[in-house]
Amino acid sequence: MTRRGLLIILSSPSGAGKSTLAKKLMGWDPSLTFSVSATTRKPREGEIDGTHYHFMDEAAFRDMVKNGKMLEHAHVFGNFYGSPEGPVRAAIEAGHDVLFDIDWQGAVQVKHSALRDHVLSIFILPPSIKELRRRLVERGQDAPEVIRDRMKKSWDEISHWDGYDYVLVNDDLETTFEKLKTIVSGERLRLVQQPNLSPFIRQLQEEFEEAEA
Ligand code: ADP
Ligand code: 5GP
Repeated sequence: MTRRGLLIILSSPSGAGKSTLAKKLMGWDPSLTFSVSATTRKPREGEIDGTHYHFMDEAAFRDMVKNGKMLEHAHVFGNFYGSPEGPVRAAIEAGHDVLFDIDWQGAVQVKHSALRDHVLSIFILPPSIKELRRRLVERGQDAPEVIRDRMKKSWDEISHWDGYDYVLVNDDLETTFEKLKTIVSGERLRLVQQPNLSPFIRQLQEEFEEAEA
């Protein structure tokens, strides 16, 4: 393994664009793994079980939590959401980054987990509240009362902006995406992400001593 994987957390108020950015990031680097969350919410049109979410009932969800199978979990918009831990550990140990589309409550838990040294958290803001509403409406996935509910929750989510490593204002999509790629590329070079550095340094030392002898 030449490097360890990062746990890349993307959070934002609903509609700010984190799913769009996550999809673009996966297209940019197909080795990225998406952490497929478990949820008790009903699938939206077009959502595939096992791809977008693991859809399950509350009893099955509670079972996973009880058996310690969730890296984090939270109650959002009246439903339970959680990140199964097994696939995350396997991916980062194999040197693949894992992308999380989770809320601030989940981000806090992952940042305090045993994997905390490998977490990169990024918060996505909308350029304005008016634009946030426009995007939610334009997405056309939720009924008007659900959109009202999501807008009400938006400020709560936004108020946690300062608990993240990076904050991006998603005005122009391509510009935001460029910044996101820059952040990920840089963070991959963190010392803790490069487990092969110690043996490499030892090798350099041997070469140095040989050359000096
Ligand atoms: P989230 O995952 O944060 O809830 P989405 O990624 O589903 O949000 O984006 C909500 C809507 O806004 C989608 O229709 C998406 O195409 C659109 N969108 C995302 N980013 C931008 C942007 N920078 N400019 C304009 N529209 C955007
Ligand atoms: P949606 O229902 O729109 O797919 O997601 C609603 C909210 O739940 C979003 O803010 C999303 O980031 C969050 N969410 C999705 N999966 C998880 C998860 O596994 N854990 C946590 N804490 N939040 C999640």
